[in-house]
Amino acid sequence: MNTPDLKEARRRTNNKVSIKENEYKVTDKQRKIGLNKKYYIKTYGCQMNEHDSENISAILNDMNFTKTESLEDADLIILNTCAIRENAHNKVFGLLGRIKHLRQTKNIMVGFGGCMAQEEVIVEEITNKYKWIDFVFGTHNIVNLPNVIEKAYDNKKQEVEVFSCEGDVIENIPVKRDSKYKAWVNIMYGCDKFCTYCIVPYTRGKQRSRLPEYIINEVKDLIKDGYQEVTLLGQNVNAYGKDLGINYTMANLLEDVAKTGINRIRFVTSHPWDFNDDMIDIISKYDNIMPYIHLPIQSGSSKILKLMGRRYTKEEYLNLFKKLKEKIPNVSITTDIIVGFPGETEEDFQDTLDVVDACKYDSAFTFIFSPRVGTPASKMEDNVSLEEKESRLQRLNQLINKYSKENNDKYLNKVVPVLLEDYSSKKKDCLKGYTDTMKLVNVKADDIYLGKIVNVKITSVKTWSMDGEIVK
Ligand code: SF4
Repeated sequence: MNTPDLKEARRRTNNKVSIKENEYKVTDKQRKIGLNKKYYIKTYGCQMNEHDSENISAILNDMNFTKTESLEDADLIILNTCAIRENAHNKVFGLLGRIKHLRQTKNIMVGFGGCMAQEEVIVEEITNKYKWIDFVFGTHNIVNLPNVIEKAYDNKKQEVEVFSCEGDVIENIPVKRDSKYKAWVNIMYGCDKFCTYCIVPYTRGKQRSRLPEYIINEVKDLIKDGYQEVTLLGQNVNAYGKDLGINYTMANLLEDVAKTGINRIRFVTSHPWDFNDDMIDIISKYDNIMPYIHLPIQSGSSKILKLMGRRYTKEEYLNLFKKLKEKIPNVSITTDIIVGFPGETEEDFQDTLDVVDACKYDSAFTFIFSPRVGTPASKMEDNVSLEEKESRLQRLNQLINKYSKENNDKYLNKVVPVLLEDYSSKKKDCLKGYTDTMKLVNVKADDIYLGKIVNVKITSVKTWSMDGEIVK
């Protein structure tokens, strides 16, 4: 049994990260395990987890499982979990209650993976109270899933494989992408920033960048397969390359990816600290790098930012924001904000509202502070009452919604390029897609337009989406 250890996970070694191309293997015996069996994956959390689930899907396909969208239909259920906030934990444990009932009535297997599996308190809870879960695997152990599943089937006892220390960069893990038109491309793993509230540097390990040639080749293959858009993925993409020691940065990577000719390039997530002028120049130089930036501020108070370990002040953030707006035509900018961080006074919160008034974000993800066991912020005195936190969140959301609508209003009657990626879940006879600036648009269109970038005239505007029609 390999169980997680947060102290161990915090350690950063100078060990050189190796690139491993031949780690992934599936034996003939493992290929038979999934015959005539279906799998169901429930994914929580960020894009990184969504992309991990695409890897897990491909591995299960190699083992001859087939996918089902129904929990009740599945022979193998996998939860790919998120550790970033308490409510994600609650949702997972809520679903486990339902799964336990299924497990008692039919012969199914259950696997528990993702960031929660990297937390020692969670794994302890699973090994003590959820002994019926068949296997637990960490974020560094996905490549070894065929062995973990085989052992769980053979030994009929709970299998736990969670490495606390990150491994190497594993290339050639198979992937079964959810979309035929847009793709996630990992450019790096882990994070070394250690913001005081964040569990990611523990659950995902130290920063490890992929070598540029692997990334560029992946993008070129995606172009050959007809993909229109790639999103370069990492917890802190602007720091890409710093660990490679080859004098190659995120700006270099963006330029090289732009030169592949793929129609649309996005990247998430940016830490303001590493967002330099070279990157801004490259974004404004290439039309296929989309004018959309997610730039988390987290708080508008320099005092709180310091407590969060964010390494920039309110003023530095505002300067960067101004520069982005000036240099990248038509750029839309979104953000993340936490309210009720320990020590946040009404005055600090007012600073946050002031920043929102200054930046007029296109949109924002807003959260109440959620202490994560093992992080420095979880040991700070949480001196803001829940009532106060909820009231601040409500006031903040009202302001965010106001600016979101105002920004969207500017699109009315304009013609904008939209990549139509799927059927609209909200509107009948409509496809949905995103503008270059990441605005969701429902478009009345035939499915021959699926996967195409079309010009759309915006006919009506709401806070979170727009409607439009194709302009020939
Ligand atoms: S940069 Fe992002 S992922 Fe890294 S510690 Fe900070 S919040 Fe977490």
